[in-house]
Amino acid sequence: MAHLRRDFLIFGGGAGAGLALSPAPWRLIGDTALWSQNWSWIPRTPRGEISYKPTVCELCPAGCAVRARLAGTQPVSLWAAPQGGNTAPLCPAGLCGHHLAFHPSRLRTTWREGKPCAANAPVEAAAKAIASAQGAVAVLDLRPGRTASLLYRKHLAKLGGHYLTVTPTLGSTLQSIAETTQGPAVPAFDLDNTGVLLSIGTPVLEAWDAPGRMLNPSRKFRLWHAEALESATALAAERWFRIRPNSETAIAAGLVAAIDGDRATLRQAADLTGISESELTAAAHDLLKSNAVAVADTHPVLGPPARETLRAVACLNARLGAIGRKGGIIGRYQTPLPKTWGPLAPETSLDGVPDASLHFLFIDDATPGAPLPWKAIASKLAPGAVVVSASWSTNGLARHANYALPAISYLEGLHDVPTPPASASARFALSLPLVEPAAKAIEPVEWFGRLAGDETKLADRLKERASAIYPGKRGEMHPASGEVVRVSTLKSAEEFWTAAMAGGRWQDDAEALTLKAGRTPQPPFRLESAATLEIVPTAWMGADVSPLMTKLWVESSLKPRTQQVFLHPDTARRLALEHGARARITSSCGECSVEVALDAAVQPGVLQMAAGQAWFALCETRDGALRAEAKKVVRA
Ligand code: SF4
Repeated sequence: MAHLRRDFLIFGGGAGAGLALSPAPWRLIGDTALWSQNWSWIPRTPRGEISYKPTVCELCPAGCAVRARLAGTQPVSLWAAPQGGNTAPLCPAGLCGHHLAFHPSRLRTTWREGKPCAANAPVEAAAKAIASAQGAVAVLDLRPGRTASLLYRKHLAKLGGHYLTVTPTLGSTLQSIAETTQGPAVPAFDLDNTGVLLSIGTPVLEAWDAPGRMLNPSRKFRLWHAEALESATALAAERWFRIRPNSETAIAAGLVAAIDGDRATLRQAADLTGISESELTAAAHDLLKSNAVAVADTHPVLGPPARETLRAVACLNARLGAIGRKGGIIGRYQTPLPKTWGPLAPETSLDGVPDASLHFLFIDDATPGAPLPWKAIASKLAPGAVVVSASWSTNGLARHANYALPAISYLEGLHDVPTPPASASARFALSLPLVEPAAKAIEPVEWFGRLAGDETKLADRLKERASAIYPGKRGEMHPASGEVVRVSTLKSAEEFWTAAMAGGRWQDDAEALTLKAGRTPQPPFRLESAATLEIVPTAWMGADVSPLMTKLWVESSLKPRTQQVFLHPDTARRLALEHGARARITSSCGECSVEVALDAAVQPGVLQMAAGQAWFALCETRDGALRAEAKKVVRA
């Protein structure tokens, strides 16, 4: 029998109708969906008893108190915990801190030149390099101020090496004051009694003190902020001086000149900053009447201010009478340390080390938020130098070091947090481990300590530190829950340690010590005109902490990408570029390719770009700060 086309059509139509009405295909789709959700490698929601544990966030020096919610043994969310009578909110990085252990970029094995290697290979290479380095050995600590930082200094004193930082332990402004003072007093901001905090380019709101304190509507001080960018701090400040890029020194010098009656410098500062002479003069007189203090501190991502800016700010603080005054910069005690630890190597700025002088360098890069252009380190290395980086991530410095070690990071080990610059009294608080670290992860300071012949665990050293604090019977222990207790009422150092291990925070008495600054820097200050095209970096503190945040950041354009540059439409017109065009930027030390985006909020003459590989390619260290100016911008 011959088959007609009609037969095929009837068969096809019948089969289609039968399939649609049959449960078989729908059942198959449903079962496939269920099976695909139950394969063994699918992440599972943790099950178990819900409990809460206290800890402290160690992702930045603010050290916010945290209450972790756990399902079984797994932290599933982090919440702000009360501290000093307030419950201050956590920043986005702090809220996602428990994601860090699962970040796809975590370094989980030992690397040699970017490839897995045996765990003892870097030990042997480091021991050999130290033995032949004749003291040209250094540790670069990207999170100074911790007990681990003091231990690095102790080990380096024994090895005759250098302890290097990018951000000084005290913060840049206080460090510049500390260099002129003598005696045991450590300079500290007395913000509880300040009238106006004048921030010169400091990320006060984003990464300086706990955001809850800065955002607290009942805080006593007013925040004045000088910055070229429309940053979170600029938008939240009571007064924002929108200065031209790289004119931080000029605004500080202009305020000094207004106080001194130096009309020529005032005029020059007004030209450079874009803030009129009359506004600078009125601001200077308001500051004189307002119990004010000025700060120009390091940005954890963008680096320290220029040395000349720090000189001008130190002079401004002296003119405002802020040094040694209640509400200004007062003296405080340090958190005590055991006498048995012996001498400590002095703290030196990485920038201050002679070029090509280091034969062995160990880098502590165990938490996100402190990227550094490799060229800032590479210039300090002697030919053939050995670099070992204890890193949290496979990106960044781990890619450049000869050896990279997987480091125990936030929530994976017992660590302490430093006293932040905005705290008027010393503190001691422990960040408690809640997550099991990767099998091969190391505690960076213990690894380096073994090279100096010290096998003591960091946990034991922290207990020694607590035992050194207790005998002074000073201050209060703020437990994670319950009543604040005076240390003098605790019966032993063991009881002090038990309280700290239960999430308690020791806060020293707010007793101001006499702080006498020596001779502060005096005018004139070196004032530079801005280039025709200045490159200004932006940064989102802690964006790397969580893969979820990174995905949101990259895919939603919530934050600019690192290969993108933002221009004012007038600037783009001048450069013959339009939105979405590809451009090539050349600076005095490098070049990069970027995508152009127009934004009327960017100042004319400014190329605004997120700190990342493109920015690092263009910038160089000048007078202690990372700077870049565009020599040429052309369509790619
Ligand atoms: S401000 Fe700093 S310490 Fe506080 S939650 Fe954020 S990253 Fe953590």
